[in-house]
Amino acid sequence: MPGPDDPDPAGAAGRGDPARGHERTGRSTQQTTGRTPSGSANAQGAHMTQPAPEVMPGLEPPSVPAAGERAEDGGGAAPRPARLAGPGGAALQLQLDAFLARAGESLIGFRRDLHMYPELGYAEHRTTRRIAERLAEAGLRPRILPRGTGLICDIGPEEGPTVALRADIDALPLQDEKDVAYRSTVPGVAHACGHDVHTAMVLGAGLFLAQQARAGLLPGRVRLLFQPAEETPGGALDVMAAGGIAGVDRAFALHCDPRIEVGQLGLRTGPITAACDKVYVKVTGPGGHTARPHLTADLVYALAKIVTELPSALSRRVDPRSSLSLVWGRVAAGSVANAIPDDGIAEGTVRCLDDEAWHRAPEMMKALLHSVAAAYDVEASLEYVRGVPPTVNEAASVQMFRDAAAQVIGDEAAVPTPQSLGGEDFGWYLESIPGALARLGVRTPGSATEYDLHRGDFDVDESCIGVGVRVLTATALTALWDGGRQGESEPVEGAALA
Ligand SMILES: [Zn+2]
Ligand SMILES: [Zn+2]
Repeated sequence: MPGPDDPDPAGAAGRGDPARGHERTGRSTQQTTGRTPSGSANAQGAHMTQPAPEVMPGLEPPSVPAAGERAEDGGGAAPRPARLAGPGGAALQLQLDAFLARAGESLIGFRRDLHMYPELGYAEHRTTRRIAERLAEAGLRPRILPRGTGLICDIGPEEGPTVALRADIDALPLQDEKDVAYRSTVPGVAHACGHDVHTAMVLGAGLFLAQQARAGLLPGRVRLLFQPAEETPGGALDVMAAGGIAGVDRAFALHCDPRIEVGQLGLRTGPITAACDKVYVKVTGPGGHTARPHLTADLVYALAKIVTELPSALSRRVDPRSSLSLVWGRVAAGSVANAIPDDGIAEGTVRCLDDEAWHRAPEMMKALLHSVAAAYDVEASLEYVRGVPPTVNEAASVQMFRDAAAQVIGDEAAVPTPQSLGGEDFGWYLESIPGALARLGVRTPGSATEYDLHRGDFDVDESCIGVGVRVLTATALTALWDGGRQGESEPVEGAALA
């Protein structure tokens, strides 16, 4: 989640459903129907410590249900047979058990190492080196991005579909306040958004999938995206500029969620995180004596009108389900009680859950600003700084996450997750290709400790790493086996705008 000012990955819980079709992108969304979150965390720790089986059976292609059998939404679908069920699924479970028994501790160690040496966006040189070393040890050939941090690594044959697994690798400018052995050694920098965990999980999934590829068991290619500078944000654009999603059919990402327990996966079809942009308004006028506002332009009054009118007028120009909101954080003008100032400013953020409304927002705001300013005879200018687009999860990709979680964690693993007005630059990828971001439970089951992202005391129950490796691996395989079936999972009629 980018920006220390966006710490809330689900602050918009309970907001209206902004689901709507996207003519521009062809995306569509549906309404969540609630299945009660399960409190059970299925024996992840046990998986991490089970002994490796002597024989590791091969992964067989799973049976694929018809498109019409797909469940409808994020966490709300009824339980259904997992895509990888049957002999292939059982084999995958055993193989993952064996892999995590062997590599699980080392992945936790890898996470702790990154945690101790966190690096800010575009400065992730050591982190990049560590990831590259681990991939190279497994016989893989990662490519470092042109700016020197972040990397891309392909696994498996070029024939067949390509699925991307994305991790973000940067840390936050926060002091690590935890009292743990792996506490950050860098003053003022901490992995307080869990990107160290994301990195360890994608690395783990990659190492396992490389093993599958060597055995000739991958039906396509998996591309690992270790993206720099998510918090900055903008690292996603570097990956894309380097061709990172060229030829990729689907992209998946996990983000730590400290509000749900290890063993649970928060899913949502449609917008899961919001756009977050910044706006800077400057108003100017001739200034003058407060005794004679009619002979000048009453700038403070005009600024007040802009500050109150813009948010309400904007809200009447877009579908209310887009949750487009403008909230001011700073307003300033004048210096003395009896002089009308000649300039003033208003600064705020625009958040939005709908891609189309997000694209229209700057022009709408500019037009509204100028019309209000004109009514009070002041000049107004707008600087609109784009943040990230909303992350809009594709229904079929969410279903793949759900199927995978059911297979490798359990039927109760998937839970509904609320929309958030926090930002996440994974949204950039999903403007171009289908995919989904899911929230991975990182809280110790039964624990009363309240953690939140972007706080100095943020930490995870590290057994989540094994869970994440399982989910990412099974999701990638599900998507590969399902390659070429894109477009068959259109929204269920009547659900989109309920
Ligand atoms: Zn964050
Ligand atoms: Zn984050």
